[in-house]
Amino acid sequence: MAVHGIDLGTTNSAIARTGADGRPQVLAGLSGEPTTPSVVLFASPGEHVVGEGARREARLDPEHVCALVKRRMGDAEWRFVAHGKAWSAPAVSSLILKSLVADAEFAGDHPKSVVITVPAYFGDEERRATVLAGTYADLDVLDVLSEPIAAALSYGFGRLDGGPDLSKGDTSETVLVYDLGGGTFDATVIELADRRISVLAVEGDHQLGGADWDERIALHLSRRFCADNPDAEDPLDDSAGAQALVLAAERAKHQLTDAESTDVVVAHDGARSTITLTRAEVEELTAPLLRRTLDLTKACLAEAARRGVPRVDGILLVGGSSRMPAVAAAITKELGDRFSGEPRLHDPDLAVARGAALYGEKKELERMVGADLRSRGRLRDGAPLGDAAPADLDAACRRVADAYGVPIGQVRRAIEIQVDTVVSRGFGVLAVNGFTGRLEPTWLVHRNDRLPVRTRRSFGTVRPDQDAINVTIVEQQGQVESDRVGDVKVLIEGEISGIPPGFDEGSEVRVTFEMGFDGVLHVHAFHVDAGIPLELSATTGATLSQAEVARERDQLGKLRRRE
Ligand code: AMP
Repeated sequence: MAVHGIDLGTTNSAIARTGADGRPQVLAGLSGEPTTPSVVLFASPGEHVVGEGARREARLDPEHVCALVKRRMGDAEWRFVAHGKAWSAPAVSSLILKSLVADAEFAGDHPKSVVITVPAYFGDEERRATVLAGTYADLDVLDVLSEPIAAALSYGFGRLDGGPDLSKGDTSETVLVYDLGGGTFDATVIELADRRISVLAVEGDHQLGGADWDERIALHLSRRFCADNPDAEDPLDDSAGAQALVLAAERAKHQLTDAESTDVVVAHDGARSTITLTRAEVEELTAPLLRRTLDLTKACLAEAARRGVPRVDGILLVGGSSRMPAVAAAITKELGDRFSGEPRLHDPDLAVARGAALYGEKKELERMVGADLRSRGRLRDGAPLGDAAPADLDAACRRVADAYGVPIGQVRRAIEIQVDTVVSRGFGVLAVNGFTGRLEPTWLVHRNDRLPVRTRRSFGTVRPDQDAINVTIVEQQGQVESDRVGDVKVLIEGEISGIPPGFDEGSEVRVTFEMGFDGVLHVHAFHVDAGIPLELSATTGATLSQAEVARERDQLGKLRRRE
């Protein structure tokens, strides 16, 4: 019955499930490694390799190696072309998911239903692209869960060594999750209280992560190499040379987490240099990157303060890149007055997969308890579990626990944990500004609004006898809500048509936005006097066309995994 939790990371991915004791366990595959590099090699027209093997071959066959695909999720135009075939980001990601499934199978599991994590900052299209990747991999994606929530779940409810056990319900904590992975950065303030996890504020940048550190270091290495060898070609001008240099840069970065200095050998175009890098030097080179994470973290804390939480109890560092000593040092120096103690490195590589497994178990147990209550007529269809009488709920938990051989406490605990979250981006409508006459976005839902959201705004028609009204729903792109059409992303377009003549200019058009915990937006527009409604749902705007999905499915079906 297990639902598996998957951390589909920018650089590394992992799969986990809860064990018989309710603790989340990460499943390692044949390699014995708990994480798999999120790298795909299209070895030949019919064969692919995922993980460490693909990463190793990046140097020999760079044209056919796809890395950092998560940064492309939600970009409907992007394709990776290898051996004359084009692959979308969900298709490439599905190969990583299949590799994780194979790892779980090696451990004796057969994943079918999964929860996949995404950065808190992912918008609607990126989330849907993630679901599509799961579908391509023949998985039933029960939910996509924000990574910081997953990390907080694992911290508060995973009962791991050194962590609290908030499932007892008598403690509360507010934490800032600073998550710096390979390609994304998220800062999130989370409150864990009374078995409830609430996200108070989210900030982030999904184009910022360890890979940017590697790039800066690689650039520095290439400059030093070229200075030492003026006649040799710049390794960055050659794709194999560039890949090798970036890998060397990453290795050096890892070494500098433990050591003050390291030597890097760069061999290219018949020349060779040994370059000494110091930690201080690398910290200086990459200071603007760290600065950006601190600025976003401050903005996140400021937002939490506006919501009545001026201080946090602690800072949890997750994501592989938060191992760099500069991270904890800079946080302590700049933000030390906003929290108690030291920033804690919390299971940086696996917390997210573990949290996803806990959440998956919760969803599954909730589903079973709900089905049990409904089959006995103790809960109406569609009603939440909280509507059931406490005695009925307890009896249902007991029956589910008995049927599946799970301790009753585990069932109760799983269904009692509540996850509250906020909107990661603003959503609005394009409308003509009455003063300037310009078409511009009007924002109805704002970033950090608490879910579920229901909000309404009235607009006016722009001319008498207007027979049709375009309704264009847009999503915020950058950090702020822009008033320029060019800065926003169009999510869905619809039209109220067939409006009979006889209505004045300025006739009321009422637009309602609703968003549930799943983050999917539903829009209702209504010409009030004419009584004509229009229902739109963001789920209708597919990231890829039906035909493209069918083509990719067929292409994926013909691709074998090379062992
Ligand atoms: P994640 O996406 O959380 O798996 O993080 C992967 C990123 O963490 C990559 O950019 C790695 O280079 C980086 N990373 C992993 N271990 C270390 C380390 N010891 N020191 C610095 N960065 C690291």
